[in-house]
Amino acid sequence: MSEIQMSDFMGRVVALSKRRGFVYPSSEIYGGFQATYDYGPLGAELKRLIKADWWQAMVGNRDDVVGLDASILMSPRVWEASGHVDGFNDPMVDCKKCKARFRADKLDESRCPEKPSKQPGACGGELTEPRQFNMMFKTKAGPVDDSAATCYLRPETAQGIFVNFKNVMETTRVKIPFGIAQIGKAFRNEIVTGNQLFRMREFEQMEMEFFCAPGTELEWYRYWRDERLRWWQELGIRRERLKFYEQTDEELAHYANACADVEYEYPWGFDEVEGIASRTDYDLKRHAEVSGRPLAYHDLESKQWIVPYVVEPSCGVDRCFLTILCDAYDEQTKPNGEKRTVLHLHPKLAPIQLGVFPLVKKDGMPEIAERIRADLKRTFRTAYDEGGSIGKRYSRLDEIGTPWGITIDGQTVEDGTVTLRDRDAMTQERVQPEQLTAILLERLAGYDRAKAAIVPEA
Ligand code: ATP
Repeated sequence: MSEIQMSDFMGRVVALSKRRGFVYPSSEIYGGFQATYDYGPLGAELKRLIKADWWQAMVGNRDDVVGLDASILMSPRVWEASGHVDGFNDPMVDCKKCKARFRADKLDESRCPEKPSKQPGACGGELTEPRQFNMMFKTKAGPVDDSAATCYLRPETAQGIFVNFKNVMETTRVKIPFGIAQIGKAFRNEIVTGNQLFRMREFEQMEMEFFCAPGTELEWYRYWRDERLRWWQELGIRRERLKFYEQTDEELAHYANACADVEYEYPWGFDEVEGIASRTDYDLKRHAEVSGRPLAYHDLESKQWIVPYVVEPSCGVDRCFLTILCDAYDEQTKPNGEKRTVLHLHPKLAPIQLGVFPLVKKDGMPEIAERIRADLKRTFRTAYDEGGSIGKRYSRLDEIGTPWGITIDGQTVEDGTVTLRDRDAMTQERVQPEQLTAILLERLAGYDRAKAAIVPEA
């Protein structure tokens, strides 16, 4: 059982992520910058593994989805057609006294900068009527400022997929139904930021647009909802912390005919981590209208050109990262009464999967350790550590979510066996080094997060 109060939980996750080099505030030596974060050595690795897992599930394992990597800067006409120039707005209110700006629909969650424990208006200022505020970052493309074209940093990756629909249809062998997947940066000038990686101004998305025949979209929508939930569970996220929120007719965007959010139970409650939307034929029709290029497929049965319908699973990489950290973080009392902080990361996501330790720096142990490690390195992400007591070395690896450690000790010198220590169960067993790869691969495949938090009896 976790021993942490929910109110402290987020602070502790953020502190660990900084302390161990997962996530740093951006430009920290200058005091940080506006809801942006940098990933440290372990964070960069975890983020890479998340994206690789998503890509494998969405593209690598399938015959009906292909990949794409579109540019961040696109013709401004893309955003006029998609509706973002006119419609990507949040209604905002300004405080006339402290000049702070708040999202009108999130006043309850916002705080007055002059009275940080209270809501907007607590400084005594009057709040204006709600006004529209566009969340796209504007910039200029071209060397001469006056004549340079205004353009935007993309607020989502999806439009890069829609504008390449024709290219992909014409240059690959895909046939309806098929999907195009993309991972990339997106930028939104969010008003209410916070909870570290949860809401940032620069973030990354993993999106897939699945093009299907009109009339089949709700079937595909249900299919992708199930697939995506399965993916979240396969990351090791506990099922009881995940749920769907199905949008009501009033909540649906005007172009959507169904939409569900995958929600995770963060320390502050359930909140969106991914959206799965049935977007009809809206985007392709709009781009066809504005660009003058038809975006349709030729249906062999009816012999007609048809604009496909689209189902989109859209997930934030950074929110996924935070979800994984929150779900993995735990503080426990060991059977010997000592406390420990541990990340129960799924072994496939652990930035370092295996620690290799010589018990002491003599008697040939470091050399044996390096030899054994050289073999395991081919299959696992490993780290060698010979500093401090063995207990301290285990603790350091627990905190970064390393699932296994092996120790080379006096007995290794005698009979060749090593100690294999398990992060979650804290058990130690003696094994032959040649068996390690098979044992660890089997444990990786059978990993069960539900069992990971059970502290063994003293
Ligand atoms: P929210 O309601 O939380 O603002 P949204 O519905 O606007 O999110 P979408 O436009 O559907 O989000 O984007 C898809 C996914 O991209 C979200 O589920 C989330 O994981 C991620 N995402 C969106 N905005 C941000 C942000 N500012 N910071 C980090 N991730 C984000």
